[in-house]
Parts: sequence; structure tokens; C-alpha cells
Amino acid sequence: MQLYNLKHNQEEVNFETAVKLGLGQQQGLFFPVKLPVFKPIELLKILEMDFITRSTEILSKFIHHEISKKQLYKNVQKAFSFTHPLKVKITQNIDCLELFHGPTLAFKDFGARFMAQMIMLMNRNHETVTILTATSGDTGAAVAHAFYKMKNVRVIILYPKGKISILQEKLFCTLGQNIKTISINGSFDDCQKLVKEAFNDKKLKESIGLNSANSINISRLLAQICYYFEAFSLMSEKQRKNLVIAVPCGNFGNLTAGLLSKTLGLPIKAFIACTNANDTVPRFLSSGIWNPNKTISTISNAMDISQPNNWARIEELFHRKKWNLKELRFGSVSDSTTKNALKELFELGYISEPHAAIAYQLLKNQLKKEEFGLFLGTAHPAKFKNTVEEILNTQLELPDALESRMHLPLLSYNINPDFQKLKKFLIEK
Ligand SMILES: *Cc1c(COP(=O)(O)O)cnc(C)c1O
Repeated sequence: MQLYNLKHNQEEVNFETAVKLGLGQQQGLFFPVKLPVFKPIELLKILEMDFITRSTEILSKFIHHEISKKQLYKNVQKAFSFTHPLKVKITQNIDCLELFHGPTLAFKDFGARFMAQMIMLMNRNHETVTILTATSGDTGAAVAHAFYKMKNVRVIILYPKGKISILQEKLFCTLGQNIKTISINGSFDDCQKLVKEAFNDKKLKESIGLNSANSINISRLLAQICYYFEAFSLMSEKQRKNLVIAVPCGNFGNLTAGLLSKTLGLPIKAFIACTNANDTVPRFLSSGIWNPNKTISTISNAMDISQPNNWARIEELFHRKKWNLKELRFGSVSDSTTKNALKELFELGYISEPHAAIAYQLLKNQLKKEEFGLFLGTAHPAKFKNTVEEILNTQLELPDALESRMHLPLLSYNINPDFQKLKKFLIEK
């Protein structure tokens, strides 16, 4: 698969290079030159397949020139080796697609684990690779678990000390082995700055085989296409007819993957781009003016992003397919409405969490009589235990993935936001 840089169209790379680079020149995102399509008859055939076989077919459609189907099947099997997406009935015309049954209890496991498979596959000379990434919580955990115990790879994750929840910290700072975690005495922005400085240090970059694992990597997006097909395969004929999918959005990677599933031929009638008070995109879609505000903290903190990275890909996709952006539904939900939505779901017998509750709320508001609605459950409620317990006035049990780590000691190092300190660590540890 060839991909071009959205900021610098002349730069064209293959899949392998795009995975290794992450971003192109001028920090531009990579986008496929060709957008493959399944013929209707192929589509019927793959919908009948099991999740792993079908996901191999989907990914192969993009990358068969570079990776054989047989090889890809093995990687997909390893990447998606946890409970597959589950579809849960909420009301007569609304279901939730639960994507949080992986090792770190959020949909990010799909993308991170497939990316880890690809990076390892591409490391043909078995050189030592150092994955360096900054996290404000969920991504770090998904990346750490994805690379855990893999040979020739060392993962270093920076996070702001005291600014992520104890549960989040326990999830990825208790692993040890090839996973090194460093709490930084500073903010998430300080962490990101340190990562950038490391990538700008060419000599360091080469000597330790530095690779980023951030959310704009094309391999993560491709992996996420697969669960939209899974959802569709689990639906009745009637549900498939007028399907509307509500996606809780932060960096808009999940929605990009959904739209890519539509370009592949999956007949999804409409998507709803759902945000919290960080509503740059909803305001843009209603006014045509791109005017990001300062980022606001909300109870759906994984969506607290005011300059979503993947938006450029979504615009390109609409442009390339000659779709009208006016057809993209959207909305934003305040914290107090999110709380009410969570309570309403609880009364319906379903324990959710703030991110999914936003999508449910907008789906309920916007769904037409003849339509069937699906909202994505992006994280396990236990990941937001305190918030959910307080709103619902109930107790949540911790799933095994969390319970088993709660009593383990934290193994993190701690440094000041000083690049020389980080550099020393990267060279010595
Ligand atoms: C990352 C995340 C999101 C946002 O997903 P994007 O692909 O960045 O739009 C939503 N919910 C949860 C729980 C997340 O962890």
C-alpha cells in the first residue's frame, strides 16, 4: 500500500515506512493513495467469516503487496487474542458494541496490539528497538501490554506524576521486564516535549533505534476497521438496513476507522461524531470555522482534546469519496448531561462509563424512527471506577485484568522534566 503525506503530497511511502515513521515531513499524516472496496458479493462472503479470518481479509485488502495473507493471519491472531467485540442490547433500537475486553480494558488494545505485531515483523534484523511514548493514561497501558515480553524491544513510557489514576498507573507500571515507566515531575505536555526532544536528537535516535507508538500510526487505524465489520456481522438484516453508529471522539482515530470501513463497502447509513465540551469539530461542522478553544477537563477525560490529530484524515476521506461533510452527524454533551445519560443507562440495567454515555445520549437524541443505532463502548466502566460509582451510587467490581495488578508494587522511575536526565536513562537502562 502506498500512502501520501497530507501536508506534503509528493512524499509517498509504503506501509512499512509509514508504520516506522509514524508521521511524515512537517508532521504530516499518511493517507492511502488507493482506497480499496469490497464487491457486494465479497462483502457477503467475509461477513460470514470468523473475526480473525475476516480481519485478515480486510487488512490484506490494504497491505497484501507487503505482507502475505498467511503471515498476516498469524499476526492478527496474536494481536486480537482476547475476547472479541461484544454487542449488547440496550433498548429496542439501540445496541452497544463493547470494545473493552482486551488486556487494558479499552478499545486501544486493538490498535496497539496490531501495531506491535507490525513493528516486530518489520524488525527483520532483530535489532533492538526502543519504543518511547508519552501518555495521559490509556494509550500507555495499551502500548505497554502490547509489547510486553517481546524480544528485542524496550518500551519506555513517560507519564505525569500524580496526574493519572492509581488504577491506570497499576495497570502498566507493575509489568517490569522490557517495560520501563517513568513518572515525570510535570504535566502531560512536559512528557510530550521530552519525547519530541528525543526524536529530534538524530544521534540518539539512531543509536537506540527509537520508534514512536503514538495514536496517529496508520497500523492502528487499519486494525480498528475490523471491529466495525464484526459489529455488522452480528446484526440482523433489519438492523443492518438503516444503521447509525455513534462514536465517542477524542483524537478522531476511531471515527476515521469507521469511515474507512464504509469506504470498503460496509453499508453504514450515518455516523455521529460525539464529543464532550471539547467541541472543536461540532462547532466546525455547524459554522464552518475551525476555532479550537483551550482544552477543558471533563469526566470523559480520554476525549479532552481540542485539536484532534486525525481530523485532517477525515476531511481528506470525504473529499476523496466525494461525500458531503454535511452528512456527518455530530453533537457535544456536557458533563451534567453525561451523568444523566449514565444514570438512564443504569436504569435500563446497563452499567456504562462517561465516554460511551456521551455516544448513547447523542444517538438517542438523533436516531430517526426507521433507524437502528449502535454506540461504541470504548472503555470498561471499572477503568473509571470512582467517577462511575459516585454518579450511580453503586459499587463496581474490578475485572481480573485490574484486580490482579492492584496489589503489585509500582516499578516506575521518577525524574524531573529534564531532557539530559531522560537521555542518560535511555542510554543506560
Ligand atoms: C482514546 C479514547 C477515546 C477517543 O478515541 P479517539 O480514537 O482518540 O477519537 C474515547 N474513549 C476512550 C475510553 C478512549 O480511551
